[in-house]
Amino acid sequence: MNLGAIEAGGTKFVLCVGDEAGNVLERVSIPTLSPEETMKGIFEFFDNKEIEALGVGCFGPIDPDLSSPTYGYITTTPKPGWGNYNIMGALKERYNIPMAFDTDVNGAALGEAYFGAAKGLDSALYLTIGTGIGGGAIVEGKLVHGLLHPEMGHMHLTPRSDDHYAGKCPFHGTCFEGLAAGPAIEERWGMKATQLAPDHIAWDMEADYIAQALCIYILTLSPKKIILGGGVMHQKHLFPMIHHYVQEKLAGYVQKDEIITDAIKDYIVYPGLGDNAGVCGALALAKSAL
Ligand code: ADP
Ligand code: ZN
Repeated sequence: MNLGAIEAGGTKFVLCVGDEAGNVLERVSIPTLSPEETMKGIFEFFDNKEIEALGVGCFGPIDPDLSSPTYGYITTTPKPGWGNYNIMGALKERYNIPMAFDTDVNGAALGEAYFGAAKGLDSALYLTIGTGIGGGAIVEGKLVHGLLHPEMGHMHLTPRSDDHYAGKCPFHGTCFEGLAAGPAIEERWGMKATQLAPDHIAWDMEADYIAQALCIYILTLSPKKIILGGGVMHQKHLFPMIHHYVQEKLAGYVQKDEIITDAIKDYIVYPGLGDNAGVCGALALAKSAL
């Protein structure tokens, strides 16, 4: 059975045909232009593919609430043309098949739970640390929604005493995203993140902030696995530093081997699906729509 998947991002849309096992059979990437131009590219790709369900993992904020009059809309994005755009309406007008719509990170969390590092678990957290920071969580087998959807990148953290950076978030300054997303690292140190040497203090600080946030998620959601993706996590040397800081900050309070022993290296991990986490997440959404 062919499933369709769309990973809708602010700079590009990844379109894919895959199967129920999470295999990507065909994929293309198109630039995010105006909604009309982008939809034209989407229709050109999917029109002859005979997909039986479609999953859309989308940049936010979005309205994923099926009972809301603006279900399926991209809501308050500053991206020109896309504010209050009814993306699911346009897709449903074209294809009469089951569809699922969620945040890109909720999709990625589901993808990791179906096919990746959290396979078979009914509880997991997926976090992307890239241009922005966002998270998706599965609790008791279901993606967490609620009033809107979680915005895990915008919680306030405590800046370190050796960090004098004002923060990059236009809303909150030194929230998690304002302190630790890729653009914050690059503005604080005045160079590309890829040019910072592995022993630069930037990475110790980064691991510290990520660990601060993870402690909050561990204490509130109690995830059985934490998966860290996004461009910044290509710096794999961050993982042992994050493990160390999470143990230090929780200070033995959560008495589980996954946290207090070396097993933490299998608890806080890189995506099993690698850079396919997003697109396989949209495939997982398609599967969930069936
Ligand atoms: P997006 O969030 O736009 O989907 P990415 O997850 O690739 O895309 O994030 C891009 C950001 O991640 C860049 O702004 C850059 O700061 C950072 N980044 C990308 N690659 C690396 C890398 N290898 N090492 C550290 N930071 C990186
Ligand atoms: Zn913020």
